[in-house]
Amino acid sequence: MIGHKELIATLRKKYPKRVFSTYVLKRMVESGMPIHSSGNYDLAEVEQWIENKQSEIDSLEIGSVFTNNDLVQIFAISNQGGMRRSHVTNTLVIFSDHTKMYDDKWYNNILHYTGMGQNDDQDINFGQNKTLLESNINGVNVYLFESYKSRNYTFVGQVKLVADPYQATQKGQDKSERLVWIFPVQPMADQFIKKVIIDENQKDKEAEAAKLSMEELKNKAKEASQKPSSRTTSSTTYERDPYIAEFTKRRANGTCDLCNQPAPFKNKMGEPYLESHHIEWLSKGGEDSIENTVALCPNCHKKMHIVNEQSDVSLLQKKYGSIKL
Ligand SMILES: [Zn+2]
Ligand SMILES: [Zn+2]
Repeated sequence: MIGHKELIATLRKKYPKRVFSTYVLKRMVESGMPIHSSGNYDLAEVEQWIENKQSEIDSLEIGSVFTNNDLVQIFAISNQGGMRRSHVTNTLVIFSDHTKMYDDKWYNNILHYTGMGQNDDQDINFGQNKTLLESNINGVNVYLFESYKSRNYTFVGQVKLVADPYQATQKGQDKSERLVWIFPVQPMADQFIKKVIIDENQKDKEAEAAKLSMEELKNKAKEASQKPSSRTTSSTTYERDPYIAEFTKRRANGTCDLCNQPAPFKNKMGEPYLESHHIEWLSKGGEDSIENTVALCPNCHKKMHIVNEQSDVSLLQKKYGSIKL
């Protein structure tokens, strides 16, 4: 058993880059670090607790969605702010909130992240801007969360500052222009966020845009940066059997299985253009079989993917679901 002064001295020696003080120790105890009724600590227990906290962070899955409360618990961070530092877990958690006024952009897998300070020129030596600026030497681990819906935080991964921060002009919360600092950060893991998650987020953003008035839309559109955001994502590909697809198209003989109209155009080989479609989607567990595959014109195919109306599904199943070779 050791007292608090001795514990601080021991931890400082063991983790020379981390900050330990009476205040930090108090925060650690509040976050669940074991302390005995005598007010003393068992060093082995403390070290185990620090390790467990880190492995909890290491096990976070990229693409998982968390609430603010979850993150307060896991990282022992405060409950607000776009950049939050925790001495308890030696982390800096940064939030890129796409629902807020400044929309950080991804270019070639690097997020150009806007620093802290809502009005006036931002100061790179202020608060957590400095922590992020020095993150390659101060030993603080940086974790990135993105938000596309209020109170939903998607884990993007541990990130690293990969280029020098630079200044740009952005409007503050008070709508007047000021200089901000942009930090180019990149996920460290060789693992990319799933494409479906980005696609869903994109839909959320589009749903938000649909709520705006024409005037608001015009303003937003004018302010938009013209360089499109881009990032690498991971996706699952279902490999379709080419013989089934080709058989189905030949069976359809140039006529759409749903609307019974001729294919709208011919491909470069002069063949009527139809697309093969799985009545029950492969992504939902459908089979890649002759009975589950139809040939559709591009219009009907899009319709099936956008609305997938039950009456259309039933019709296709009735017509082709029991087809025999
Ligand atoms: Zn059609
Ligand atoms: Zn399809």
